[in-house]
Amino acid sequence: MIELDDRLGAARAHARDWARDLRSTALELDRDPDTVYRCLDNPAVRHLSTMLIPAPWLPERTLIGGYRFDGMTAMERVVFAEEIAAGDAGMMLASPGASLSGVLVDLLADQEQKEWFYGRLLAAPTWTFFALTEPDHGSDAAAMGTRLDPDGEGGLLLRGAKRYIGNGARAQVGVVFARDRPGPLGATAVLVETGAPGFKAEPIPTIGLRGAQLSAINLDGVPVPEGRVLGRHLSPTRRGVWSGVQMFNRLRPGVAAIALGIARSAHDYVTEQRGSLSKADRLRWERTGRRIDGVRQLIWRAAAIVDAQPANGHLASAAKARAARLAEEVTLEALEYFGPGARLTQPMLDKLIRDARGVEFMEGTGNIQRLNTFQGLVQGKLDRD
Ligand SMILES: Cc1cc2nc3c(=O)[nH]c(=O)nc-3n(C[C@H](O)[C@H](O)[C@H](O)COP(=O)(O)OP(=O)(O)OC[C@H]3O[C@@H](n4cnc5c(N)ncnc54)[C@H](O)[C@@H]3O)c2cc1C
Repeated sequence: MIELDDRLGAARAHARDWARDLRSTALELDRDPDTVYRCLDNPAVRHLSTMLIPAPWLPERTLIGGYRFDGMTAMERVVFAEEIAAGDAGMMLASPGASLSGVLVDLLADQEQKEWFYGRLLAAPTWTFFALTEPDHGSDAAAMGTRLDPDGEGGLLLRGAKRYIGNGARAQVGVVFARDRPGPLGATAVLVETGAPGFKAEPIPTIGLRGAQLSAINLDGVPVPEGRVLGRHLSPTRRGVWSGVQMFNRLRPGVAAIALGIARSAHDYVTEQRGSLSKADRLRWERTGRRIDGVRQLIWRAAAIVDAQPANGHLASAAKARAARLAEEVTLEALEYFGPGARLTQPMLDKLIRDARGVEFMEGTGNIQRLNTFQGLVQGKLDRD
């Protein structure tokens, strides 16, 4: 069994306090994703806005419980993510900050690119986006059609379309994945400013995790200076498949923790709102609580493995698949405690059910995670116990 040390215990306690405030704006953000602009002073939002900015760029970081947190380890991210998502997963995804792009920048950017990216984030609350998925190529990233071609004058041009991109329409800067050559090593990530000519992003209607403001992005010959190609100082193998695998492995436990936070939120909701339960109901709900605790252990173990060996994300896949399913099961089970028509009478539970469904599609669906888990088992990289 994994136990948190004092530092991560402090992170958990503080984030749990912040989460209480987030509950009060959760339904409002769900109705109107622009609510986030009024919540920039919320401590959770402020924390997220400087996460994934490493110490050299932010030496004077605000201490939390006497400790410094920058979100550079998967373990730290999962502890904060569960608690903040238990308050409101929508706000977790709506907040400004380096977010997914930050993990890639940390892995691939050179010194100059880091100065540029972190400088933007430190100057003002800045939203970022991470554009990999395409309208016709969701899980199949290898079939990506967006192109990065020379413009004939020493620069590059982006052409293509992306879809389901979190914060795409409100971001100032982000990462776009594109193909610069045929073959498996031909994928590249570039830093892009959303004010660049040819860049257009529009929110798309969604049902769950509406705070994330998923967007469709059109790239109509967006100019990209050579200096914005991430990993330009690395070999094509290290900036292509290698970096992609490492980055997604590092991200996955955090997405699992968001699902866990949604499950916890539904569990807490029933406990708080349905004061007196029959003995049978109480025992059943306590059993569900123990399932949540079990999946938390799995996520912590997956995060610890990814921190120790970033190339080994097989347990992280198992954790993401398990946590996403748990979130769907627990949120639906919670409804049963409120009688007929509960989806209408309990709008918060209705939102949690919609959010849980959304997490299933983030960072790889359950089927894709199960395929990855299977590969780990076959290759002997996953402990069968
Ligand atoms: C809330 C949210 C936030 C997101 N944020 C981002 C973001 O910031 N950036 C970004 O780039 N993308 C983002 N996405 C997109 C997400 O990564 C895609 O939705 C995901 O990759 C699935 O793609 P798809 O929706 O096209 O489904 P598809 O890939 O078309 O899958 C449809 C169904 O087919 C199944 N399937 C697909 N391939 C296989 C296979 N080989 N074997 C078995 N079954 C298979 C899937 O499991 C699924 O059930 C986000 C999505 C959501 C919902």
